[in-house]
Amino acid sequence: MRRPSKPDLPPPPELPSFRVEPDPVSDGDAGVNVSVLDRHEGTKLSRHDAPLDEDAIDPDAAKVVRRLERSGYQAYLVGGCVRDLLLNGRPKDFDVATSARPDDVRALFRNCRIIGRRFRLAHVLFGGGKIVEVATFRKNPGETDPDDDLLIRSDNVFGEAHEDALRRDFTINALFYDLDRRQVLDWCGGMPDIQRRAIRTIGEPIVRFREDPVRILRAIKFAARLDLGIDPNVYDAMVASRLELARAARPRLFEEILRLMRAGGAHRSMWLMWEVGAMAVLMPELAAFLDDDEATEDGSLRFFRKMDAIDRKTIAEGVLDDIVLMTALFYEPLEEAVQGVRDVMGAVNDFLEPVIERIAMPRRIADGVRRIMTMVPRILQGRVGRFARTDLFLPALDVAEIVLHSRGQSTTAIQALRREAMPPAPREHRRPSAFPRQRGARR
Ligand code: ATP
Ligand code: MG
Repeated sequence: MRRPSKPDLPPPPELPSFRVEPDPVSDGDAGVNVSVLDRHEGTKLSRHDAPLDEDAIDPDAAKVVRRLERSGYQAYLVGGCVRDLLLNGRPKDFDVATSARPDDVRALFRNCRIIGRRFRLAHVLFGGGKIVEVATFRKNPGETDPDDDLLIRSDNVFGEAHEDALRRDFTINALFYDLDRRQVLDWCGGMPDIQRRAIRTIGEPIVRFREDPVRILRAIKFAARLDLGIDPNVYDAMVASRLELARAARPRLFEEILRLMRAGGAHRSMWLMWEVGAMAVLMPELAAFLDDDEATEDGSLRFFRKMDAIDRKTIAEGVLDDIVLMTALFYEPLEEAVQGVRDVMGAVNDFLEPVIERIAMPRRIADGVRRIMTMVPRILQGRVGRFARTDLFLPALDVAEIVLHSRGQSTTAIQALRREAMPPAPREHRRPSAFPRQRGARR
């Protein structure tokens, strides 16, 4: 395992241990006694009486489940929403898994559209842009390739409920909630892992990360966002499989990096990215900056303070603009790259070109980063000028505020500029992890 090299660098505040005690295999308290083998074969179902807070369950998602059940299908709440409710969090959205085929779902709901070519899913639409995703149970496609290449390229095979649980990534993500009986259905030991607050893959971690290396980033995201530990075997497999990240679909990588930074856990996420070595694979310019002992004792501190500022702003104001997140992420090495250079745009270009290539950063975002990098120094010097009328002025103010915060300097001047620039209506507050509010609903 690779640890950050600078002993003086303080870890992020309230950093969880990230590594938990080894898997206890059986858990008497929860009435679960599942051998590792059974668990992986998915032969044993344990049901837990775990009535979730009814008020926290999205009523439209509940409606969808109930209508499917009344029509004779199996239907459960699944995945992130069950996990978040069990951990006392607020789910971002509610997903449903069912035995009904997509066309059966469409026949039951007028407000339904089918999406996806590779795997067809039903989206049931409600007011305020709310979408309840309804997916038919499916299973892992099985060993199609006798060679060692485990990378999953297609996963569109219908299956049974237990197979649908086993194809998922982590045990805590594979729990099904039976609304009628108010029970959690667990085929892979997810409940004991919820109780010990641990991230564990379903099956061999090395295999699961090789199948889909993006799961490495997902493990980091859940550890950071939900303050969970990572099972030691899983952690070691993340480190061992990190080079596989280079094989993953690049747009997924970019999206997942944004997700690491959007939910109030940017500081912990980037710490873990660095520690696990995923940063060196996906963002070597940043890892090199943090690893460079000579130049960056202060630089690393400023970097993590920026991540901290992002988390505070996100929690206070809602999700930040993607361009703000990306500029703040690369700000330190970018600042280094433009130092003493006349053509700032050109230098930022040269810096970003390989990043665009490696993680598929969209041109629109790269362009925004480039423009903001020329605006921020002027804002910090109080020379705002014509920039105040451009569409990137508010995002640039956000970045300037984050930069000042990381230097431990006052941000009062930025607040004043923002008050001047802000249109009268307050910008919509997008909570980092709440389900979408219905338009016109009670606040
Ligand atoms: P979030 O709160 O960030 O949405 P989530 O767990 O709901 O977290 P999604 O990406 O919405 O994550 O995926 C929904 C569910 O699909 C997950 O809970 C998991 O069971 C399954 N899943 C998602 N991505 C993968 C993956 N790469 N491999 C296996 N299963 C996955
Ligand atoms: Mg989700």
